[in-house]
Amino acid sequence: MRYISTRGEAPALGFEDVLLTGLATDGGLYVPESLPHFSLEEIRSWRGLPYAELAYKVMYPFVEDAIPADDFRKMLDETYSVFTHKAVAPLVQLDTNEWVMELFRGPTLAFKDFALQLLGRLLDYVLEKRNQHVVIMGATSGDTGSAAIEGCRRCEHVDIFILHPHQRVSEVQRRQMTTVQGDNIHNIAVKGNFDDCQRMVKESFGNQSFLGGKTQLAAVNSINWARIMAQIVYYFQASLALGGPDRSMAFSVPTGNFGDIFAGYLAKKMGLPISQLVIATNRNDILHRFMSGNKYEQHQLEHTLSPSMDIMVSSNFERLLFDLHGRDGAAVKDLLERAAKGPVSIEDYRWKHARKLFDSDAVDDKTTCDTIREIYEQNEYLLDPHTAIGVRAARNCRRDSAVPMITLGTAHPAKFPDAIAESGLSVKPQLPAHMADLFEREERYTVLDNNVSEVQGFIAKHWKNA
Ligand SMILES: *Cc1c(COP(=O)(O)O)cnc(C)c1O
Repeated sequence: MRYISTRGEAPALGFEDVLLTGLATDGGLYVPESLPHFSLEEIRSWRGLPYAELAYKVMYPFVEDAIPADDFRKMLDETYSVFTHKAVAPLVQLDTNEWVMELFRGPTLAFKDFALQLLGRLLDYVLEKRNQHVVIMGATSGDTGSAAIEGCRRCEHVDIFILHPHQRVSEVQRRQMTTVQGDNIHNIAVKGNFDDCQRMVKESFGNQSFLGGKTQLAAVNSINWARIMAQIVYYFQASLALGGPDRSMAFSVPTGNFGDIFAGYLAKKMGLPISQLVIATNRNDILHRFMSGNKYEQHQLEHTLSPSMDIMVSSNFERLLFDLHGRDGAAVKDLLERAAKGPVSIEDYRWKHARKLFDSDAVDDKTTCDTIREIYEQNEYLLDPHTAIGVRAARNCRRDSAVPMITLGTAHPAKFPDAIAESGLSVKPQLPAHMADLFEREERYTVLDNNVSEVQGFIAKHWKNA
């Protein structure tokens, strides 16, 4: 399988190179040149498969040029055996025909483990084969950093440096990053905000001379195609568990960078009957505003109770825009260059097509808390604030009560105790057993000034073969 850039100018690449590349050289994102398509009969034959085997069926066409089948199977077995629920992605029923898929049974209690546990193993496999090394450099305001660190902790050919804004991430989130021990793991607390961290990462990717040509940077944010690929699987899993593919499903997806929901859109294109996809956002609602009024416009960042969805632009939306424009890279390039300067719209018929593919909703903090409380009072089931947004949007946008509605449960409530408290409940979400001692574990991180040469100097000095 070949991968092409959404801006049409960068060379097509194979899976290995796409894995190791962040943005394409033309500024675009890589997408598969064509998607595999599965017949209903084939999907039906996957009923009852364990998660790792289903993952193999769904993903192998994307990697087959790079990884022999047996090696990939082994990697998937290892990846999904670290999850603490036998079903890996269990479904919990909320109401008649309404479900939450718990995607937070991995090591860091958020859905990002599904992709990052696999990504770490894929990177190490490919780097071993090529006798190469990479430095992962990333900025985090929360869940990505810990999931990336957990995903790469056992990698032999990867050093990972995660920047977080000093004293501005929650204690659970910080401890999930800083208590992971390993010579290749480096946490940097930058005396600045998240944007400062992100700027330094971007600048470093643009000019990697500080590494002296001895290694190269790799990206673990959701512009990396391998992350999207891994997220397609659980849409199939949920459907098969509830009578698919012989009935169609609806999904509601708490959305920030449009990665997780884009995976659902791909599952549908690959043949899974999905009749509705709901984009659920918080007050950072650029996608909901676009879907409602065909205006794509950046607003100020709002800090909400669902911080993992606090974004101004959704980077993966570019991948959808590419399809909406008939895969015309030049048109996408032009649109996004204009979007960087001010509000843009797309042709009406293209926008109408987008509205056929997706419904959307934006949920504020108060309604998020109301939803957490309501579901707890009804079912004694505690939602995290991100999942609560998904459940609220699912209920607001639902079209057909005969179709199972599945909200993706993106995080464990114990990651976000403040939102639970704010919802007025006296119940305290408990960390699962494997993390119960998180607050006693030893932390390791380095505080650095808000200065890119200081950060780059630190990385140059501390990666393995420096
Ligand atoms: C990252 C994250 C999201 C948003 O996912 P995208 O793929 O960026 O849309 C939602 N909820 C939680 C808990 C997250 O960590």
